[in-house]
Amino acid sequence: MPLDDAQTRLADVREKIARAARIAGREPDDVTLIAISKTYDADAIRPLIAAGQRVFGENRVQEAQAKWPELRAETSGLELHLVGQLQSNKAEEAVALFDAIHSVDRPSLVEALAKAMEKLGKRPLCFVQVNIGDEAQKGGCRVAELPALLAAARSADLPVAGLMCVPPFDAEAAPFFALLAKHARESGLSELSMGMSGDYETAVTIGATHVRVGTALFGERA
Ligand SMILES: *Cc1c(COP(=O)(O)O)cnc(C)c1O
Repeated sequence: MPLDDAQTRLADVREKIARAARIAGREPDDVTLIAISKTYDADAIRPLIAAGQRVFGENRVQEAQAKWPELRAETSGLELHLVGQLQSNKAEEAVALFDAIHSVDRPSLVEALAKAMEKLGKRPLCFVQVNIGDEAQKGGCRVAELPALLAAARSADLPVAGLMCVPPFDAEAAPFFALLAKHARESGLSELSMGMSGDYETAVTIGATHVRVGTALFGERA
């Protein structure tokens, strides 16, 4: 992607976030845009960094390990978020590499992350991923299991900042965003990771503090 295209796309997404924030009486700066660069190689990511984007997201530990050390060596101040499912045996690698983890979804992972953070002396911000549509075969903890998982995370002293969701693919997202926001409020959590290329403006009007945008910035994935 040429630098011009990266600048145009980034400006467009930022403008839409700002507009949605203003509609909801929020400050545009209260929304963090995470550019989801999964499947794109370092050469495809560089124009977006050159255009000024600093916060990126990946869904696989190994893929991120292959690209980001090099990109981070080139540009300081980059922030990297993990948005994909995490195996407990990769918890230590994830803690070492990422600044935030959006996919905490089960007690065994809470334990593994707490142990890794203790060992490495590094505490990436955590989001508990909620299977907000209670779908079979979907990542995230069941809504009914959320209180117990949050209690486990608190007793393990995990730095949980908020909740994350990927709503059902074939349904209107807004009601699910509203439900996630309600659970966050009731749990005393301030951060909400919700909204992707197709629905990030809606998510911002409903309170998203972190939107995860891939294709609107990078184009369709192969
Ligand atoms: C791929 C991905 C995104 C970005 O999706 P787009 O539709 O490309 O914006 C956001 N969140 C998660 C968890 C993803 O896996």
